[in-house]
Amino acid sequence: MQSVLRSNDRQQQHLSLQMKQAQIAWVMENIPGGLIAIDNQETITFFSCPAFKGLGCTPATMLGHHISVFHQRFGAPSETSPLLDALHKGTESRRVSHRLGRYFEAVNSPLVDEQGEIQGAVCLFIDVTERVLQDRELKRLEKAQMVGQLAASLSHEIRNPLAIVRGHLQFLSTTEEQAALRGQYEMMVEQLDRVNTMLQDFLDLAKERLKQSAPHSLSAIVARIRPMLESEAYLAGVTLSIELEETPEFLLCPDDIHQLLLNLYRNALEATPPGGTVSMRVGLSAAQQPYFEVCDTGCGMAPEMLAKIGTPFMTTKSHGTGLGLLQCVNICKSYTADFSIRSQPRQGTCVTVCFPATDESCRPAP
Ligand code: ADP
Ligand code: MG
Repeated sequence: MQSVLRSNDRQQQHLSLQMKQAQIAWVMENIPGGLIAIDNQETITFFSCPAFKGLGCTPATMLGHHISVFHQRFGAPSETSPLLDALHKGTESRRVSHRLGRYFEAVNSPLVDEQGEIQGAVCLFIDVTERVLQDRELKRLEKAQMVGQLAASLSHEIRNPLAIVRGHLQFLSTTEEQAALRGQYEMMVEQLDRVNTMLQDFLDLAKERLKQSAPHSLSAIVARIRPMLESEAYLAGVTLSIELEETPEFLLCPDDIHQLLLNLYRNALEATPPGGTVSMRVGLSAAQQPYFEVCDTGCGMAPEMLAKIGTPFMTTKSHGTGLGLLQCVNICKSYTADFSIRSQPRQGTCVTVCFPATDESCRPAP
């Protein structure tokens, strides 16, 4: 009776041991890296590296082999192996290495017995490619931000001496002694104005957004600048049609919306020959998103041009800066607004800016 019980116990223990082994094997097969152990003959005694399955590195092909077999497959030199350093010098190490197009962080450590003797070494490694790439991108962005700030302050500083040079040139162009060179002076002033416009556009681009945000509605902003829009259309000989539907207030900086609207509106006017029409519509979409649309019956854009929208300095105008649409795209990004353009050569262009839906608390009182 007792021996039957003992055999049952043994079966039970055996079963639970098997389950534990299967669980460990399952965990090891799913780690995003691997674990390798060697004995003091440098022979692989444990090998579980799901990350290298594709290289033909499996327990069946690696166990019992010298560690150099793995190093060869992995493309790592055996002479500088931190795993062998751990075995022969007892050094622990942690390092990130780049192998086979991925980044691995490896921890190497000696395996020490109860008497303090090194009996082998172990290497645990993990695929950290995403983390390394993210860190790099972060550093790149920090650098780009710093360069942007430097460029913005440099642009600001350039404008003062530029204004002085422009003033003197303008003065010289009006004097009798320089009358013969008037045309050249005017050309120089014109070019300086162009540089100044570019610097202003660049500074607007580098400006930090959403600083003085307060609840405003798109419809109220357009209503306020309507007389200015009408006079610009009149001067260009273009018919302006404005459809204004009252829109809810949301947090915005009116300067941003002015800049966005005026850039799109002026592009529309510049693309439309006298006798054409520019229409502006402000409203609330079915999904409760405040939007505005600027459409024109102008020259339109070729598909190659459309594909390059937002590329700095891309302009087809002799006095253009090619920074206006980039500015619009950046403002839209800072409001998580959708910016879309439809355009047909010789038919016209329609630009729509759709802001995120506003919540009830931001709506104007009925
Ligand atoms: P800029 O107006 O200084 O040229 P933008 O960034 O505002 O710079 O515009 C870039 C280019 O996109 C313009 O030069 C023009 O070729 C094209 N474009 C923009 N808006 C329109 C439009 N409404 N119709 C036709 N072309 C346009
Ligand atoms: Mg423009």
